[in-house]
Amino acid sequence: MNAAAVPANEPTFRQSVDLMFNRAVALMDLPPGLEEKIRVCNATYTVRFGVRLRGQIQTFVGYRSVHSEHMEPVKGGIRFAPSVNQDEVEALAALMTYKCALVEAPFGGSKGGLCLDPREYDEHELERITRRFAYELAKRDLIHPSQNVPAPDMGTGEREMAWIADQYRRMNTTDINANACVTGKPLNAGGIAGRVEATGRGVQYALREFFRHPEDVQKAGLEGKLDGKRVIVQGLGNVGYHAASFLRNEDGCRITGIIEHDGALFNPDGLNVDAVRDWIVRHGGVTGFPDASHTAEGAAVLEEDCDILIPAALEGVINLGNAKNIKSNLIIEAANGPITAGADDILRERGVVIIPDMYANAGGVTVSYFEWVKNLSHIRFGRMQRRQEESRHQLVVDELERLSADSGIGWTLSPDFKEKYLRGADELELVRSGLDDTMRIAYQSMRQVWHGRDDVTDLRTAAYLVSIDRVAQSYKAKGL
Ligand code: GLU
Repeated sequence: MNAAAVPANEPTFRQSVDLMFNRAVALMDLPPGLEEKIRVCNATYTVRFGVRLRGQIQTFVGYRSVHSEHMEPVKGGIRFAPSVNQDEVEALAALMTYKCALVEAPFGGSKGGLCLDPREYDEHELERITRRFAYELAKRDLIHPSQNVPAPDMGTGEREMAWIADQYRRMNTTDINANACVTGKPLNAGGIAGRVEATGRGVQYALREFFRHPEDVQKAGLEGKLDGKRVIVQGLGNVGYHAASFLRNEDGCRITGIIEHDGALFNPDGLNVDAVRDWIVRHGGVTGFPDASHTAEGAAVLEEDCDILIPAALEGVINLGNAKNIKSNLIIEAANGPITAGADDILRERGVVIIPDMYANAGGVTVSYFEWVKNLSHIRFGRMQRRQEESRHQLVVDELERLSADSGIGWTLSPDFKEKYLRGADELELVRSGLDDTMRIAYQSMRQVWHGRDDVTDLRTAAYLVSIDRVAQSYKAKGL
């Protein structure tokens, strides 16, 4: 992704995640045995399988790593990229554990990857490769509605998830819950409305919540609302595109820079994200896009002045080589692991506010959870039409409000959720308001630690403290 090369003295991605984990557990009082149990990956399965393509057998290498089974099923995407390797898959699986704990999605952490460049194969070939990979994983319960539930990640989407679900169904014809073996499926194949946009939508909701707290905004050297803020986004894939498009079209942000694999676009007056996306689809890159200056040195634009920097592509793009040049005081990690541990130290010392990956990109797995529940319940999500159901809804809202008032805890139903619940929202509205609530609550749980403890100076450490504590409680409850 046209990033500055990661210096050789930088730890690997998994080591980087472990270093950040260690920083947080040093502030906790966990028994050392439990600390290690949480940190390590439980198991990583490597498979090498052959597929006959274009008259010749080609061998592919794939992985599925299970980081923590304190809750099951374990959850996490499957990535298709030539750079996939065991270290990366294990780092991503660990992040899934912490991410799910932080947003209270009742899953352990897992991740998978297949080492290939999807652009080198046609659709029919990709289907055969994906089905064979799915078969290899499913026969070892590494795809299973109650054991391990994959989802899309870089290089995969609805299409691949539909193939995986169908492959599982063929292998388990009597499993009534077969649809829940994978999330991120197309709507007409057991998916849920709003899953494709979910991670980008979550980034938007995370920023909206951040800007509801003037004290936090001030820490990032900013003031006021999202409206008018200058944003640079790296990667206009599924996550970066949706995040940038929503921020521009719904919150009034100015997208001043877009970094892609073939360079970057820059326009201080703001770029039309949807037009850029169309251009990329038609021309394969950003080169030649009118109304903007283009530089082939994409990574350099990470260092341009802006209010909010959104790395939404690969891991390790902000590293020891460029961290000191980053000018933005607010970075939201839409990608997993875009900032290395060393860069994190440099930025933290400079007071840069980093909204960490395990929170910022949790929208995907949150909506995956809704999809999984929908599949298992076999009930359609959405508008309730009968009067009786409406009055039952009113009873629930009344009771929740009474409980809230009595408990003294002080939580309330967001007005948006309440209005939609009473009126009987359609599926997309329910998904969005459920995601919004999740992002608000998770932010507040991090924020409480960030502001409440003198020894915690950053949101990432706060996020780790909240999530590690939840994982530890769960292991303790199970008597491990
Ligand atoms: N691949 C996404 C992630 O990194 C989504 C995972 C899921 O929905 O299970 O969070």
